[in-house]
Order: sequence, then structure tokens, then C-alpha cells
Amino acid sequence: MSQPLVASTPLSSLTPSTSLQTHQQWLEQAVQLARENHQQGGRPFAALLVRDGQLVASAVNGIHLDGDPTRHAELEALRKASQCGPLAGVIVYASGHPCPMCLGALVMNGIAAVYYAFDNADAAPFGFDSTAAYQTLGLTLAPQPLPLVKLAVTLTAADLYGSEPQSHDHE
Ligand SMILES: [Zn+2]
Repeated sequence: MSQPLVASTPLSSLTPSTSLQTHQQWLEQAVQLARENHQQGGRPFAALLVRDGQLVASAVNGIHLDGDPTRHAELEALRKASQCGPLAGVIVYASGHPCPMCLGALVMNGIAAVYYAFDNADAAPFGFDSTAAYQTLGLTLAPQPLPLVKLAVTLTAADLYGSEPQSHDHE
């Protein structure tokens, strides 16, 4: 079955150029990448950088590749995008709420907004949250340094974070 048409998206919830449905489609891509990375032995995180509806860079968490603890998906995506000019105004689609390290890098590079699927409460039961780091740093995210918007996606947090690597490969 194809997706039902969305005929009555409230206009008040939309930015002028990007519909909620478009944000959700990008975010679904990020979550799928995160899932694939988990299935291949990596941590279940991915991020896309999008400017004016065009993909600038996508990346997954790469810590498992060489042990570098800074290889979070958002930072990997920023590194990849560094060939593409200034990143001011870029929108980030991240499978999980950014940790403080990544959030700092996103703010310092003028990222316009972050859309994410799972927050720290979703991730905590699986040990993938950055709550402790936020607490240690005293960062409350109130007010938010940039728009941080949680959107629903097809997968649940248990689908993404709970599945063992190398399993659930039916799709
Ligand atoms: Zn991070």
C-alpha cells in the first residue's frame, strides 16, 4: 500500500519552503541509515545535512571503525560537508537528539535547525543517551540554542536501539 495522501496539513505548522512531510521523509532516511549502521556493528546513529532541499552530506556513527570517540554521526557529516562551503542555514536530520559535543559544533557552524527522531528518554533504556553529559555540563537546553524538533518516525526506539547487530535483516 502506498502512503495515504496528506490533504489537510495545517499550514501554520509549516515553514515557507519545507513541509512537515518533507522533514519526516529526510528524518526517515536518517533513521534507516542509523539502523543499517547498527546492523553492521556500529552504533545506531546517523545524520543528514540538507540545504534548500538538497542533501549536502550524510554520515553514520563511526566509532566502531577505529575507536575515535568523536566520530558521532553529526560530526562525521560536518566533516564530509566541509568541502561544500559554509554550513550556515543547513538543516540537520539526526536519528537521535544531539549530544552536547555535537550540539556545540552545530551551533558554532550556524546550523538552522535540528530535526530528530528519538530523545534521551527514548534512548536511556538502551544506554544510548547523553543525559549524563548534559547534566555534568549544566546544559538545560532552555532556551534552546537552535530549534530542536522531535518528529515521529516509522520505527520505534526499541526497533532502532534494541535490536542486536547482525539481526533483523528481513527488509
Ligand atoms: Zn554527538
